[in-house]
Amino acid sequence: GCGICINKCPFDAIMIIGLPEALQEPTHRYGPNGFALFGLPVPRIGKVSGILGPNGIGKSTSVQILSGTLIPNFGQGKGDWDTVLEHYAGTALHDYFKDVVDGKVKVSQKPQYVDLIPKAFKGKTSELLEKTDEKGVLDELIDRLDLKGVIERKISELSGGELQRVAIAACAARDAQFYFFDEISPYLDIYQRINVARLIQEISKDRAVLVVEHDLAILDMLTDVVHIAYGEPAGFGVVTLPKSVRVGINQYLKGYLPEENIRIRPESIRFEVHPPREDAQFQSMISFNSFSKQYGDGFSLKATGGSLREGEVLGIVGPNGIGKSTFVKVLAGEIKPDEGDPGIDVKISYKPQYIKADTPVSVQDFLRGITKRFGTSYYEVEIAAPLQLERIYESLLTDLSGGELQRVAIAACLSQEADLYILDEPSAHLDVEQRSMVTKVINRFAENNQKTAMVVDHDIYMIDMLSQRLLVFEGESSVYGEANGPFSMEKGMNRFLKNLGITFRRDEETRRPRVNNLGSRLDREQKENGNYYYSA
Ligand code: ADP
Ligand code: ADP
Ligand code: MG
Repeated sequence: GCGICINKCPFDAIMIIGLPEALQEPTHRYGPNGFALFGLPVPRIGKVSGILGPNGIGKSTSVQILSGTLIPNFGQGKGDWDTVLEHYAGTALHDYFKDVVDGKVKVSQKPQYVDLIPKAFKGKTSELLEKTDEKGVLDELIDRLDLKGVIERKISELSGGELQRVAIAACAARDAQFYFFDEISPYLDIYQRINVARLIQEISKDRAVLVVEHDLAILDMLTDVVHIAYGEPAGFGVVTLPKSVRVGINQYLKGYLPEENIRIRPESIRFEVHPPREDAQFQSMISFNSFSKQYGDGFSLKATGGSLREGEVLGIVGPNGIGKSTFVKVLAGEIKPDEGDPGIDVKISYKPQYIKADTPVSVQDFLRGITKRFGTSYYEVEIAAPLQLERIYESLLTDLSGGELQRVAIAACLSQEADLYILDEPSAHLDVEQRSMVTKVINRFAENNQKTAMVVDHDIYMIDMLSQRLLVFEGESSVYGEANGPFSMEKGMNRFLKNLGITFRRDEETRRPRVNNLGSRLDREQKENGNYYYSA
């Protein structure tokens, strides 16, 4: 056991205060010592249900069961449908599985890793989409997902964000009873995420929809109920009964599930509303001058100069294709501006948005080569443990998954000796738990070492928890962009959200930001007062 349990528990990784009934018999186990899944999400017509939890915890296994391709075995042997129906007698899952057995349930799925689509499909986007158009809604979907410009292009030529929207359109176009979207936010900006969320809500009017999503602001606005998934990745996973989305996310953040009487994390994830700090508190500043950058006769960026404070984290927000990455590349000295020069005279450590590993060196040798602190207790506590690096120390960089590579790249960036640390989209490929750990690592790093950090990200929860001030990018995607600020969080968020036309309130219990329903009383009031973002 983990030592914290009151009762004896069969697992090492989590703290169970009293073994809940749900954990006595698995829903499914892959072989005698294989991964075991406890519980199942319940598809409900007219509702969007979410799953909130890490990867490797049995989400795909659940969906295989719900789509009828895997018959659950309740722990041993080979499953059969008669036993399944008997097991769920008298519950909503009985009726659902009855329909599955009778061949009445068709499932449409959006896969998690859209990067793999070009390997499976060679051809034009229009060819892929036309095959899926069972509802005759393709033209509308192409329009709403802004795909007009790409339908004549080859799938192999699409960017991540374009592939994501094509995959969502393909899933939504099918005529199914049960829709499963395994993450909608990767590669999309917040405007696109909200747009997709609204589309999925419409699908759910007369169908059942299940969504896995690690952007909590989006999960919160999109779903009606959430199942929390916890356990030990690759060991076992538990899917709770559904909870209302507000309660579910709050319980998840606090790390304690009262109905299940289970602590899933030793401490809570906190949202602290940063009071604006007085300028006088800051010893020294890092200044940069105005500059501009143009790609041929294509996109152009204009940045006015500004100054950064020692020890602060500056958030950078804006839509895709507006020049955020171009801006940080110029600061980092990766590319040259056309006019002006940022003229930063301090040392910069930079993590690019797209990370590639080309040398087959082990994670530990790679990190040891960057910092003398590798292996010290400081490094273990502040970097390696929270970024879950120890378990992949022996792996080669070239063998890592997207999420593993991201965590190594963040560690590598923070391991350099520098004065300014720039991280471009650190949340990409990470689950909620990992995002919260990364947030904590960056915050503590900046505070303890009095170093400045700049973080580009689309995850509002992460930006809210990380940033003391904001840089807001505006313009027209792919055409021109300008960097405005740095502003205080309140001023910057108001400006950013006004461009998006959405307002946030704060949850009373956890202080986390929540998107207001469009046109609701709060939404209208806040827009009238110019209070798009509740900072207090
Ligand atoms: P998630 O979708 O939450 O990432 P999965 O349901 O894909 O998780 O997998 C959960 C665990 O079950 C993983 O550790 C995986 O290795 C294991 N697993 C998945 N499919 C099989 C299978 N067919 N046989 C044995 N183990 C499997
Ligand atoms: P963001 O990070 O805000 O998504 P980027 O700075 O990556 O935006 O890109 C801004 C615009 O510049 C996009 O339209 C992109 O296609 C274009 N762009 C980026 N890099 C290059 C390049 N090397 N050559 C030409 N165009 C580029
Ligand atoms: Mg970018």
